Amino acid sequence: MSLDWIAAELAAWDNAGLRRARRVTRPLAAGMIEVNGRPLLNLAANDYLCLAGDARLAAAAREAIAEAGIGSRASALVSGRTVWHAELERRLAAFEHAEAAVLFPTGYAANVGTITALVDREDSVFCDRLNHASLIDGCRLSGARWHVIPHLDLGALEVELEKARGRRRRLIVIDSVFSMDGDVADLPALVELAERFDAMLLIDEAHATGVLGPGGRGLAEHFGATSSRLVRVGTLSKALGCLGGFVVGSQTLIDWLWNKARPQIFSTALPPAVAAAGCAALEVVEQEPERRSRLRTLSETLRARLTDAGLAVPETSLPTPIVPVVLGDEGRTLAAAARLEQAGFLVAAIRPPTVPAGSSRLRISLHCDVTDEQLDRLAGLLAAFASPQAAT
Ligand SMILES: *Cc1c(COP(=O)(O)O)cnc(C)c1O
Repeated sequence: MSLDWIAAELAAWDNAGLRRARRVTRPLAAGMIEVNGRPLLNLAANDYLCLAGDARLAAAAREAIAEAGIGSRASALVSGRTVWHAELERRLAAFEHAEAAVLFPTGYAANVGTITALVDREDSVFCDRLNHASLIDGCRLSGARWHVIPHLDLGALEVELEKARGRRRRLIVIDSVFSMDGDVADLPALVELAERFDAMLLIDEAHATGVLGPGGRGLAEHFGATSSRLVRVGTLSKALGCLGGFVVGSQTLIDWLWNKARPQIFSTALPPAVAAAGCAALEVVEQEPERRSRLRTLSETLRARLTDAGLAVPETSLPTPIVPVVLGDEGRTLAAAARLEQAGFLVAAIRPPTVPAGSSRLRISLHCDVTDEQLDRLAGLLAAFASPQAAT
């Protein structure tokens, strides 16, 4: 069979307005980005603490490059786990107050690898409908029986857990901060359900590491949640400004993942320089709490301004750096994003199939270098989209 069918499929996507364009960007200082030759305030990235461009991380990486070069030369299991990787695992475990940590090439790989290492055909997984794609893919690949739970519906989760009492193992899988709505999981209630139904609980702290909790350790720290059933996944690619996923937990859990998690076994280890930069990032998170308090203030201020203006901002019990503005219609959302871009702000226009039809939205991802003046101007521009005719 030829590959001609692909051109036909792409044309169909084009017609439906669903084909995605690729653009080339260049990161600039102060949380800015160059797009099509123009500098914009970057509100479409996950570099919440502005560490990706931090000179201290770059210096740590350069030092490692001088000694080790670029590549890690092998998977961690074979010979690629260098002193930089071991040091980062040690520091991640210490930072998260856990016995041990294991690195993965990405957060995606950490989720897929961990879920498939914990459950299989004889087991059940419970997956929130709005969970990140990597959690969903992990659940699929595991072969475990699926229980899709309406978003944050603890009652529905309880019903499904009850149905799965006879299964060998049960695993609840959830984002700590949801990437499209910016809301958070009710971790204490989930831990309680996990205990009552003898289930494991995997929490994906991708958007929470470095951001939530007094020490920036994530939602588990915010709620003071500790449980021997808890499996905590994080990523170095967002607030920590680097690349790589990790899991923290008991030594037994980490030994199991080291032996069993396939993406970690069959993928080349992260470059040593990235591991070195990860260590530097953890130091900044510990030493500069003002970065996450600034982020929190920005989120609270923007949410209040937008809600007052009559815009639909999904509710959350905690001010996370993800602030969505639901405009509903795809065309209206694209027009609003274009208008903001003209005014110097880059925000993501999120459309189906990423979100359900009719809930297209602007997603504003804040970072700690946003100034009061920039936030004020952004809120003013967004307020103009409050009436349905505004952006069309
Ligand atoms: C971004 C993200 C991931 C994937 O992390 P990468 O390190 O980019 O692969 C996993 N889970 C959630 C919730 C995310 O937002």
